[in-house]
Formats: sequence, structure tokens, C-alpha cells
Amino acid sequence: MSQERKPQLSTLVVHAGTDRGQWTGAASVPIYMASTFHQRDIDEGQVYDYSRSGNPTRHAAEEAIACLEGGTRGFAFASGMAAMSTCLALFSAGDHLIVAQDIYGGTYRILDKVWTRFGVETTFVDTTDLEAVIAAVRPNTRGLILESPSNPTLAVTDLAGCAALARERGWLTIADNTFMSPCLQKPLELGIDIVVHSATKFLAGHSDLISGCVVVGDEELGKRIGFLQNAFGNILSPHDSWLLLRGMKTLAVRMAASQQGARQLAAFLNNHPKVSRVYYPGLDNHPGYGIHNRQASGPGAVLSFDLGSRAAVKQFFSRVKLPIVAVSLGGVESILSYPTTMSHAAMEPEERIRRGIGPGLIRLSVGLEDPDDLQADLAEALDGLE
Ligand SMILES: *Cc1c(COP(=O)(O)O)cnc(C)c1O
Repeated sequence: MSQERKPQLSTLVVHAGTDRGQWTGAASVPIYMASTFHQRDIDEGQVYDYSRSGNPTRHAAEEAIACLEGGTRGFAFASGMAAMSTCLALFSAGDHLIVAQDIYGGTYRILDKVWTRFGVETTFVDTTDLEAVIAAVRPNTRGLILESPSNPTLAVTDLAGCAALARERGWLTIADNTFMSPCLQKPLELGIDIVVHSATKFLAGHSDLISGCVVVGDEELGKRIGFLQNAFGNILSPHDSWLLLRGMKTLAVRMAASQQGARQLAAFLNNHPKVSRVYYPGLDNHPGYGIHNRQASGPGAVLSFDLGSRAAVKQFFSRVKLPIVAVSLGGVESILSYPTTMSHAAMEPEERIRRGIGPGLIRLSVGLEDPDDLQADLAEALDGLE
């Protein structure tokens, strides 16, 4: 390949993190099930000494995600929450954080119930409104935690706008990029400092492991995260690192196919008389449509829609045949979830309603089934609703 040509993401996902001849040249990075490594000379440092600090299979997965997000260092954790919690440990008692109000429920929980005990203050803000972010500033504000599009109403935050605002003030910015994956959105290129993933979702992609990733561009910041990862020890196991590597190789084709299905289903649901509202950044009636198109190359594979009542949702779930009804997203199979009793169960009902999470709201993560089969299945389930 010529020096000037930058490979596309679909090329990178196949080759990132693979070992070309360093050891054996194996096309699939071996699973190094070793807790420790023989030290030939105690005066000489070596790359691997203990697997909490570093493991070859995990390193391959870490190099792969760093490459895909365009960062200098990647880190693989035992879950998305382990990844996020480790990043949040960059802050100290007395620091104040501004956090997207629609942030993932687990991130909300750890900030609200755990970090407050260590003296980190948090204000949850509608970050789709930059004025609201500015209005929340305190003299001790040190960080901005974002997610775009958000869950489950797919609210879009201007990541570059927020990053610029934070940079002027010396705050650290963290963006949860789980819904988009680096195929569709690269927060580091938009000026964000730290990208976090629940790799359980699109990155791994097969609903068969729990994992998380962090990527940074700045090397100093990379050292700080590496220190915390080793200190906490919440690392991804060698076997799960291998599953993640395997999953990521097909990320680009999976994302493209699932997104195509999501576009079709969003359009279908948007015109269906039994559906009162569809939330999808690929529809031009979505309030964040313009900003999303500026910062991402596609609307992704997750959408939400409203059937008006809990009774309608129950009927719909009992009639639909292809998608599974479950927590999670980003798998090869389509997944329907019910935010009211699943992701947002802990939230006060009034607060849920205020955020558009009514009793009729359903989230759909579109998998790899044939989109016409999915549409026919949804149509049949909807048409039978009383
Ligand atoms: C699932 C999810 C998480 C948490 O990840 P786990 O792997 O379940 O710990 C964080 N953020 C988003 C957006 C998620 O969907």
C-alpha cells in the first residue's frame, strides 16, 4: 500500500492488533493463559512480568482498539463499567464533574452512589444544550462526561463544541462511544480526551462476553490510565481479550449491515399508525439530526419507538418472534429492551417521563437478520395490537 493512503476502518479492523511475525505469525493471536512470566535476568526489565500489568493477548486487543479510535493507547477492562470507573478515578475529592443527564445508568449510579462518598461532586445536565453546560460550571469543575447519541432517546450532544468549551477551561473530557463504535464516530478527532466503550456491545458484537475499553490520544494521560488499570486490576482476561479481538474483526461489516437494517426499520416504524414516535438520528425529524451528521458518519443501529402504553408493549413483546427481549445491544441478534423496567428502572417515574422514557417506549438494537424479515415480524406484531 502506498505511503500516503490511509487504510479505511474496514481494513484496519481485520489487521489491527494482529501479530505479524513477532512470535509465530499466527493469524489469530494466541490466548496466553499465563499469570506470570519467567524473568531471565532480574536486572533487566521485560515487557511481560505479571498478567495484571500486561498480557500479550490483552495487549493485542488494546492495540487494536487504540488503532481503530485513532489514539496512542488502548486499555481493555473486565466490563464497560470497569473502564468508566477507572477513568473516573482520575478525579479527586473536591472536584466537580458535569455529566450528561442521559448518561448510561451504571455511570449515573457510580457517580451518584459511590463517587459522592469520595467527595467528587456531580451535576447532571442536558448536554444537548451548551448553554446548560456553561450554566452548571463551578470554580472546581474539572471534567465533562458525555455520551452521544444517548440512551434510550438517542439525544445528540455536540461533542466538538463541548470539547472546545472544556479545553478552554482545562477540564478533562470523557465520551462513551458505545452506541456508535469507531466505525461511525471518533471522539478523539472531535477533541475529546478519553473514549470509553462497553465493548460488550458492538465491539465484541456477539452477546457472548462482558468487556470494556478506554482509548486516549495523549501519552501522559495514557500513563495515568495504565497506572490506574494496574492499580485496580480490573483487567480483561486473556480468553475474553481473544473473543473481543475476534469480534472486532467483523465490526465494520456488522455495523454497516445493522445500520442499513435500522434505517429501514426506523422509516417503517415512523410511518406506522400504532407507533406514536420514533427516536433515531437518521430521521430528519430527530432534533439532533444536523449535529449528528456533522460529527458521525452514520446514525447507527439503535433506535427507540413509542407504543403509547405498557399494555401495548407487553402485547407487542409476546407477539414478536425474531428479536430477543433483553438488556444489552450491539449483538448479531436484534434485541428489544424496555427501559422502564430494565435500564431505567432505578429512576423515579416522573423523572423518566420528563426524559421521554414513557411506559410505551421500546428500544431496538438491530442485528444481522434480513431487514425484510425483521420488518415483516414487527409489522405482524404491531398489526395485531388491540
Ligand atoms: C452497556 C453499557 C455500558 C456498561 O458496560 P458493561 O459492559 O455492561 O459494564 C456503558 N455505557 C453504555 C452506553 C452501555 O450501553
